Amino acid sequence: MKLSRNSWILIIAFICLLLFFSILFFLRSEPEYCSKVDISLGTTVKVVVSSEKDAGLIVDAVLREFHRIEKKFSVTDSKSVISLINKSDHPVEVDEETAFVIERSLALARATEGAFDPALGNLITLWGFDRITNNDFEPHIPSDNEIEEALGKSGYENVLIENDVVILENSVKLDLGAVVKGYAIDRGISIVREMDPDATGYIDAGRDIGIIGPKFGGDYWSIAIQDPRGDSGEYIDVVYLKKGTIVTSGDYERFFILDGERYHHIINPKTGYPVRKTISTTVISPDAMDADAFSTAAFVLGGEFSAVLLPVLGGQGLFMNSEQEMSQTEGWSFFQEKR
Ligand code: ADP
Ligand code: MG
Repeated sequence: MKLSRNSWILIIAFICLLLFFSILFFLRSEPEYCSKVDISLGTTVKVVVSSEKDAGLIVDAVLREFHRIEKKFSVTDSKSVISLINKSDHPVEVDEETAFVIERSLALARATEGAFDPALGNLITLWGFDRITNNDFEPHIPSDNEIEEALGKSGYENVLIENDVVILENSVKLDLGAVVKGYAIDRGISIVREMDPDATGYIDAGRDIGIIGPKFGGDYWSIAIQDPRGDSGEYIDVVYLKKGTIVTSGDYERFFILDGERYHHIINPKTGYPVRKTISTTVISPDAMDADAFSTAAFVLGGEFSAVLLPVLGGQGLFMNSEQEMSQTEGWSFFQEKR
């Protein structure tokens, strides 16, 4: 078969075009990531951003937001709004952001049937988990009477908020430690989006991770879930995310060992003692504050109950019990593959 002149021209043009796009593909440079690490909210915070704008400025703005939130909501800062509310013996008028965080926490407490409870301040102080990182911290196990008394001064049903006025009844104290990291991640992501809607990257606040955007604009981020009894770097699962948030609660974060028993920082609001049946829970959810509350709640409720409850609330989870047996929600497997 003899090809006409025009056909030859077309074939050569096609080959040239193919060559041109192949060269473009190989020359395309992957976007660079600006990454900074800081300490905030009692953990290491890593912010990783790629942007056509000034990525360094964006990362700094996120870290500033973490410090602002820590100062405002930490129970250990005596000037924080939470300390002011806890110290006051009369109703306290709060700003809009504080009202939002408290109202959202109460809604999450109701949704998790009180397994996540933002009003366990008295129990947490009694155990000392708010001071555990201090050099002079002396581990001790409270007596049954002390636990009984602190239980009587606990419970989110005693927190009332109306028209931005907060009332704490029955001497309860707020402690937002189980959601404040999640809230800071949500705020951090909003700040990045305001500064550059096309930015990509992630925020990692000690195993609580929020995705800003897909890796290199299109790929998945691979996230390994730490083995709660393994060495650092050993993991129990890997998931792939392009968006959303993933939060892990573990009994290896803040704990002390006394007479061979491990006492850690996640308290069962019904008993007043650290939870025994779970050692690690991980939750994937669109928002980090929700994921943070859900992972704490799942820790208290255990895998069996959480596998049913979480999907109803918009989360998926992976759980490990004290026998080191793993379980998961039905939708978890979706994230175990790149799809
Ligand atoms: P981490 O801070 O290690 O990520 P969590 O998000 O589960 O873990 O939060 C644990 C913190 O929340 C504790 O240090 C304490 O301040 C508070 N807390 C403990 N038990 C509960 C609970 N059942 N509900 C709400 N907050 C809790
Ligand atoms: Mg939490």
